[in-house]
Amino acid sequence: MLSTKNFDGIEPFEHKIWLSSPTMHGGELQYMEEAYRTNWMSTVGKNINEVERLAAEKVGCRYAVALSAGTAALHLAVKLAGERLYGMARPFEGTLKGHRVFCSDMTFDATVNPAAYEDGEAVFIDTERDTWNMDPAALEKAFALYPDTRLIIVAHLYGTPGKIDEIRSIAGAHRALIIEDAAESLGASYKGRQTGTFGDYSAISFNGNKIITGSAGGMFLTDSREDADKVRKWSTQSREDAPWYQHEEIGYNYRMSNVIAGVVRGQFPHLEEHIAQKKAIYERYRDGLSDLPVTMNPYDAQNSEPNFWLSCLLIDREAMCREVRGEKEFLYQPEAGRSCPDEILEALAHFNAEGRPIWKPMHCQPVYRSNAFVTRQGNGRARSNAYIDEGTTPDVGMDIFRRGLCLPSDNKMTPAEQDRIIEIIHRCFA
Ligand SMILES: *Cc1c(COP(=O)(O)O)cnc(C)c1O
Repeated sequence: MLSTKNFDGIEPFEHKIWLSSPTMHGGELQYMEEAYRTNWMSTVGKNINEVERLAAEKVGCRYAVALSAGTAALHLAVKLAGERLYGMARPFEGTLKGHRVFCSDMTFDATVNPAAYEDGEAVFIDTERDTWNMDPAALEKAFALYPDTRLIIVAHLYGTPGKIDEIRSIAGAHRALIIEDAAESLGASYKGRQTGTFGDYSAISFNGNKIITGSAGGMFLTDSREDADKVRKWSTQSREDAPWYQHEEIGYNYRMSNVIAGVVRGQFPHLEEHIAQKKAIYERYRDGLSDLPVTMNPYDAQNSEPNFWLSCLLIDREAMCREVRGEKEFLYQPEAGRSCPDEILEALAHFNAEGRPIWKPMHCQPVYRSNAFVTRQGNGRARSNAYIDEGTTPDVGMDIFRRGLCLPSDNKMTPAEQDRIIEIIHRCFA
């Protein structure tokens, strides 16, 4: 450990405290076993039908199509949107070829990669400070810069709903479609409505670290029967209704397995319980860290109820020690009374607890280095290519990345274990 802070008297955790790991309850095994016993071991079966019903019912949409991953759901959503906006592409071309897509910037790369799969050009929209999601003011700016854009992909980071009304109204004014990435926010609501119902197409994920899991898996959500049917067909290799394998379109092997669906089916009854545990974790951090120069990841308590998937903290500017980050490494200078994300993450790791940096904004990812980036001031690219050091806060997303971190948020963590983590963080600021 690089830090010179005093951690005397703190014991390492015997079992690792994870950021967010699967929490099983027993029912999962029963449904998996049933799939095995009845030999429905492929991509058809009762578990699949049931999880589609459960998801549509929980979220409040008409149709849910179970797929192999949330990324697959986002890909097919993007493909559908492209077809609807620009017509059927030539057979071996992406449906978004030659078109821009406005995308959340501070998110996991699976939100935005599907635009690239369909040959679209992502334009990244900066983040706002109230919920750490897409900034409507920056989105408005982006439409001023690129008025012919017709597609928006927006995520709800860490389970916190973004400024949905504002974004929907801007999209409406520009006749743009919305793809909602609710992968991290299953069970979160905005003005009484569940996330996953606000996009023209929406996606959720059952990846291993999400609020409920199938070990893998995801779903495409929509109110359109025609679109649901199309996604189901694409996800099963675009087989036509014919005696032999007949194909009129390019297909994908994206359907969920009935075994995976058994895990998801066993998890669904525990969604609300997981959310309650995550909320208690968030509140315990908020209270336990209230005497430090930090704030928690914010949300709009008036209009939204997050699922509290990950608890994060943001260090006050004045309380940051000097830290520089390159592409793959960092360096900081320990300082009394101050700290920085990597000092805290190193301390947590030393005691066998897993935190993580804030998702690094997409406009700073080497793979997207040539894509446009728009802040509420306008084109953000010129300034934000700068090397990230403690003196520069080029945009909101980069500022949160620089000063923030994700805390261990596993719902199996006990209050006593969480108190130890809170103590470690206090020592970092001593
Ligand atoms: C996990 C995640 C995805 C992708 O889901 P997978 O099921 O892992 O493919 C997409 N977007 C966000 C924001 C995610 O966190």
